[in-house]
Amino acid sequence: MDEPLGLRESAIEWLKERTSDGLEPLTRDEILDFRFRGDSFTLQSTQQGIRKPRGFDAALSFQTVYRMPGQKRPYEDDIGADGLIRYAWRGDDPNQPENRGLRRAMELRLPLIWFVGVAMNPSRFQVIAPVYIVREEVQHRRFAMAPVEETDMLPDMMTGSVMEESLRRYLRRETKVRLHQPVFRSTVLTAYENHCAVCNLAHPQLLDAAHIVPDRDELGIASVVNGMAMCKIHHAAFDSFFLGIRPDHVVQIRKDLLEEVDGPMLRHGLQELHGKRLMALPKRYTERPRLDLLENAFEKFKSATLGDVA
Ligand SMILES: [Zn+2]
Repeated sequence: MDEPLGLRESAIEWLKERTSDGLEPLTRDEILDFRFRGDSFTLQSTQQGIRKPRGFDAALSFQTVYRMPGQKRPYEDDIGADGLIRYAWRGDDPNQPENRGLRRAMELRLPLIWFVGVAMNPSRFQVIAPVYIVREEVQHRRFAMAPVEETDMLPDMMTGSVMEESLRRYLRRETKVRLHQPVFRSTVLTAYENHCAVCNLAHPQLLDAAHIVPDRDELGIASVVNGMAMCKIHHAAFDSFFLGIRPDHVVQIRKDLLEEVDGPMLRHGLQELHGKRLMALPKRYTERPRLDLLENAFEKFKSATLGDVA
């Protein structure tokens, strides 16, 4: 059977709907719910990384499994200054059927679906789609890809290795918005089981993945160990140094706020948390905040409040 017309587009649309436009992660079972013209159709490979359905010329999807902190994601070390993402061939043989499938998707400029693991037991995947393969880097046995929505710029990306700075900036921004931010958010929220670390609030719509050290800083890695799930108020309070977190996981409120008299939000939402331990942390120790990052952030809190800590 050839690739049915419209299947790829309809799968990408369905995934966008199911994930609130790429924000929510899905389990393998949820991804299995996809149907095309009434029949279920498997979008994700269970065995190897690349899914090229029988009869298809081109690959349909590929995946990256979740790695615990400390284990590198295979694509991360290879995101170039050009903003393109690298995905390794399967094995060493360029003519291996799945590699041929990815190459064919490049030649036909077909959109692909990328499942990026953000949790295990059960596995959850962030859906990045569409993704286009821009070129093949044979000497490195890998493909270079861009998570972009519009394809007008693809020809520019595909010709030659030198890209305009404006195009590189565009790609870096798209990669951040469409890949890094949603993957960071899902990894952190899943590790905290959708609870605010400070107050335990359990509604994802009201939660953010806060960076302990801002991602513009040198230390500010987009890894779960530099993240904490926080409700909107505590995230803003943390970023503005109203609230600090001691490296031993005890909440500190800025001293002048402790003396202020105001309504219930100030009293219950901030003052009463002073001296309390964090209320939610990841079950796995390797996913908990890294000590040096907490120390770094707490030093900033102390200097921003001029040591004005109770
Ligand atoms: Zn909170």
